[in-house]
Amino acid sequence: MKKFLLNENEIPSHWYNVLADLPTPLAPYLHPLTGAPLTPADLEPLLGREVIEQEFSTQRWIEIPHEVRDIYRMWRPSPLCRAERLERALDTPARIYFKYEGTSPAGSHKANTAVPQLHYAAREGVGRVTTETGAGQWGSALAFAGALFGIEVAVYMVKASYEHKPYRRSLMHTWGATVTASPSALTRAGRRALEADPDSPGSLGLAISEAVEDALGRPDTKFTLGSVMNHVVLHQSVIGLEAKRQLEIAEDYPDVVVGCVGGGSNFSGLAFPFLAPDPARNGPGPRLVAAEPAACPTLTRGRFGYDHPDTAGLGPLLPMRSLGSAFMPPPIHAGGLRFHGDAPALCHLYENGRVQARAFEQNEVFAEAVRFARTEGFVMAPESAHALKGAVEEALVARETGQVQTILFGLSGHGHFDLAAFDAFLAGRLEDYALSDEQINASLSTMPALRPAGGRHGG
Ligand SMILES: *Cc1c(COP(=O)(O)O)cnc(C)c1O
Repeated sequence: MKKFLLNENEIPSHWYNVLADLPTPLAPYLHPLTGAPLTPADLEPLLGREVIEQEFSTQRWIEIPHEVRDIYRMWRPSPLCRAERLERALDTPARIYFKYEGTSPAGSHKANTAVPQLHYAAREGVGRVTTETGAGQWGSALAFAGALFGIEVAVYMVKASYEHKPYRRSLMHTWGATVTASPSALTRAGRRALEADPDSPGSLGLAISEAVEDALGRPDTKFTLGSVMNHVVLHQSVIGLEAKRQLEIAEDYPDVVVGCVGGGSNFSGLAFPFLAPDPARNGPGPRLVAAEPAACPTLTRGRFGYDHPDTAGLGPLLPMRSLGSAFMPPPIHAGGLRFHGDAPALCHLYENGRVQARAFEQNEVFAEAVRFARTEGFVMAPESAHALKGAVEEALVARETGQVQTILFGLSGHGHFDLAAFDAFLAGRLEDYALSDEQINASLSTMPALRPAGGRHGG
């Protein structure tokens, strides 16, 4: 393995905002009740001032506060590695690089946005934040940041994960957060779900509704999100900005960039900086490939339209591809990829044909994660293994055509809390889930009929 490192002073000074460089402007968000274009003032009861400003900003470069860069130094710049042993195992002429985000205290890229979000919250005098978490990666990243800034963190954790992934819960408790299984009796949205089904396993959309309702009900509390929104995609651009510098050191440039997509933030963070104007290059730039689970196929089988980020419809209508906010994905182990929608900027670029998407079953994904562990050593999160699978497919195409390709993929987090899933895979007990068109259509029919302009299928 070859490793390309930057020193601490090379942490980017600015985040990159892809909204400055979209081929056409992003359709506006809409107010969940009135359907009118959403204004920054509409978000004020919910989110902090600075992140609202970033959410609407089309400024290309936004300065990273020095307090945030100071904390980024704990684990940034993160390593870029060339996976030469994997290349040999695949017998491919392709060069495979991965950007490793598993070195953060919480073990994934999510700390890249948890830290600035709580930095701004602390500066604005916010004493408490709420959030949702699926498998617990976002909740633990936020709990980590809450400990650093002295902010109380209340996490609504999808009940299925709360019960089956106790160690991420322990991590959140260790950093001082409170964790509530969702659906809970603390909110109307939760009580309604429990009345309908006392054994409800919960979903990300439902946990968001609970966290939003909680935040709206308390003046000292703001809501935070770990993916999907523009400001989160913005913060994650540190990944790709560093990777670009590191590839310069490697004297290489990617033909294709692959990332896994749950809500789209780590993929966008890695890939979008390659869309920034670059005086040193002409040409179209790398192909961008989003890898998602076949069990939650938002880009490949969802519909471009307006949809809520949450089940109860409290959040703004976002222009995105969605499977419908009522979608209950099958219980795959990549819990962080089980969201019904994706970041609007990513969906926009997908509609424009700038981003491609591939969907993978979990057994083929785990098979690659195991091959990677046995060649490159790192045991990665099942989410990240979707990106790896996409990268391996590209490398195998290169083997067939004999064409040398440079492939960059995002290794978004380590898999140390996912070992039960590895056990299940190694014992042959993992299920693949084929979603029928009927299932997908039933869920799509719950989407509002509103359509933003600019969809692939005529909008
Ligand atoms: C949450 C998570 C993801 C998916 O979220 P995105 O916003 O799509 O990046 C991917 N990988 C890991 C390790 C995660 O924790």
